[in-house]
Amino acid sequence: MVIKTADFICSNTQISRLPLPLKPEYAFIGRSNVGKSSLINMLTQKKGLAKTSQTPGKTQLINHFLVNDNWYIVDLPGYGYARTSKSNKEDWNKFIRTYLDKRESLQCVMVLIDSRLDPQKIDLEFCNWLGEKGLSFVTVFTKADKQGSIKTDQSVAKFRRALLGYFEEAPPYFVTSSETMMGRDEVLGFIDDINKN
Ligand code: GDP
Repeated sequence: MVIKTADFICSNTQISRLPLPLKPEYAFIGRSNVGKSSLINMLTQKKGLAKTSQTPGKTQLINHFLVNDNWYIVDLPGYGYARTSKSNKEDWNKFIRTYLDKRESLQCVMVLIDSRLDPQKIDLEFCNWLGEKGLSFVTVFTKADKQGSIKTDQSVAKFRRALLGYFEEAPPYFVTSSETMMGRDEVLGFIDDINKN
């Protein structure tokens, strides 16, 4: 897919104020610092579209970016930041889970996983929750440039094996790097295919 335009539309703290659900949406989510903003900027080739390295655990915003006037990238707040307070975590849960559970235009949740780490409980539990809700999701492994491909492959395999504790079949996955643009065509191609159907 060729990205012609990618524009910030709105930031929301309330579900009731989201844009009308008239265009397909792809939600990007993961632990704080996983590389979500960098990935969104890499996919759209627009530096600074999503703000990188924000202080995690602060305002919980759902950001909508409109791509090619046709579909939305939805930037969801990161989870699992150690210093986030309990009430902040509960707010996160309610707000994001309501969005994910109820958003009729949501096509797929892109769950970002740091390709350098062993499977993290919080990621696995989140994937499990998506599965329980019947939400379609894929895993997007980030920061692949930070290590050799053998290490990345091992890490991806470990995570997918861990997912099999919850699922009969692991969902599709992508290996990406915002530095080298690895995985860009694959992720955009995946979205394009869904948009066409
Ligand atoms: P977010 O909190 O999930 O939005 O994460 P950011 O996009 O702000 O990235 C967190 C840190 O990881 C920043 O210092 C980024 O420069 C770095 N980073 C993100 N993606 C990559 C990547 O693909 N490769 C490398 N080498 N660094 C990355």
